[in-house]
Amino acid sequence: MHQPSPTVFVSGFFHETHTFLRERTGLGAFRDLALHHGSEILSRNEGNGSPMDGFLSYAAAAGWKVIPGIQMAAMPSGMAEDAVFDYFREHFFAALEVHWQQIDAVYLVVHGAMVCESTPDVEGRLLEELQFFFSRRGKQVPVVAVLDLHANVSQKMIDNSTCLYGYRENPHTDAREAAVKAAAFLQEIWEQPGVRQVFHATPYIAPPAGQGSAADPMRALLRRAAAIEAANPHVLCINIWAGFAYADIPDCGFSFSCCTRGSAAEAATWLESLGQELETHLSSAYPYEHTLEAVLTLPGLQAPVLLIEASDNIGGGTPGDGTGILAPLLATTETGIVAVINDPEAVQDCIYVGIGATCTLAVGGKTDSFHGEPVAFTGTVINLTNGRFELENKNSHLASITGAFVNMGPCAVVQNRQATVLLTTFKTPPMDLGQLRSQGITPETAQFIIVKAAVSHKQAYDPIAGDAFYIDSPGLCTSNLLRLPYRHIGHKRIGPDATENSSTMQI
Ligand SMILES: [Zn+2]
Repeated sequence: MHQPSPTVFVSGFFHETHTFLRERTGLGAFRDLALHHGSEILSRNEGNGSPMDGFLSYAAAAGWKVIPGIQMAAMPSGMAEDAVFDYFREHFFAALEVHWQQIDAVYLVVHGAMVCESTPDVEGRLLEELQFFFSRRGKQVPVVAVLDLHANVSQKMIDNSTCLYGYRENPHTDAREAAVKAAAFLQEIWEQPGVRQVFHATPYIAPPAGQGSAADPMRALLRRAAAIEAANPHVLCINIWAGFAYADIPDCGFSFSCCTRGSAAEAATWLESLGQELETHLSSAYPYEHTLEAVLTLPGLQAPVLLIEASDNIGGGTPGDGTGILAPLLATTETGIVAVINDPEAVQDCIYVGIGATCTLAVGGKTDSFHGEPVAFTGTVINLTNGRFELENKNSHLASITGAFVNMGPCAVVQNRQATVLLTTFKTPPMDLGQLRSQGITPETAQFIIVKAAVSHKQAYDPIAGDAFYIDSPGLCTSNLLRLPYRHIGHKRIGPDATENSSTMQI
């Protein structure tokens, strides 16, 4: 035991950055979701099912003294402004300056795929500055962090931390549990120091739709990693980092890391074997997408049919106002359609006319030119709400980002003979059915549900779904990475075919 009541400095900095989006992410986006200082971190997270909640509960049970620094989180979105990183650094290091002498460790809740205007590797830079902070003061403490499975991990992150630990599940049903486990590793490291981390980057970048943990390659990789962990008690963890494909940075893509008390050479051999395992299952990482037309002609469709719009995957950062499926679907004679579109302007139009009124709206397609045109929709306003709801499932993927209480901002539900459309003010990923039910929509009775996600919806939607199809539609979270104008990934592979290693820039 290190000492009876160790003191841990904790902070959180959480953003998955989609660098192909035109919009920048400023401090306002963090204020909308989470920007907490000091003790506010405790009151805002305790019991909310988030990774920070996981850390706090472990710390309380272990009798640790917690010094909360700063916590910032925003929904996945475009490039973070430098002002965001500057704000975090200023407050993080100011708090550390006050408390560093009494600190026995630093614990961080970070995403791992954050990019800001002048720093492609925000977490790497932060960890490096943290090491510099302590080395200048002649002090060394363990630095442990819990990260999202979609982290684009860099050698710099590994070199400047003691132990990084990532979620295993995608959808991220284990985010809180992973934070608890990382805290337990910290306890182990105090009791028995002397761990090392080994890193292995691969040349492969895969789209989110190919990274579900229930399917290969993730299933096979996680299984192999778990087997190595189980057979080697001197290994704390082996991480499978799936990477986040929409960050155009050199460290983008699949990588592996190991935190071990054993030799670096042994760990390197394991990580290389994981690289071979990935190559064996590589084609599964690039899933096939159907055309909407082809799906609609299939006989015997079982309702509700999920039409998965991965190209406007809100959890991947896109605007959530894409009409690439909604517009052509409304042009058919299909009925029973349920869709969620983020469109604050249309919400205001509905509030103006009021419940029971019929109006014609221009819905969606307003944020940029990559996600379709606004679609004309004439319907009756059947509900207006403040858009707040509590997760039905506290282990929902959404809890890893927001905790259990979600704020979609003012919302409106409009309906006509074909479709029921939920209009939101803040884009909200479809990771929990409470999103629909809280607005008076019963998803089970739908014929078609348009789902703006890649994998993160599965825990909520698969149990109620009849059939489910990934639909090829326009958008910057396209699963066809060959359409994206990559410039900074070097020779990394973005498609299933080795000969297709350069972008065709069709978006
Ligand atoms: Zn993730």
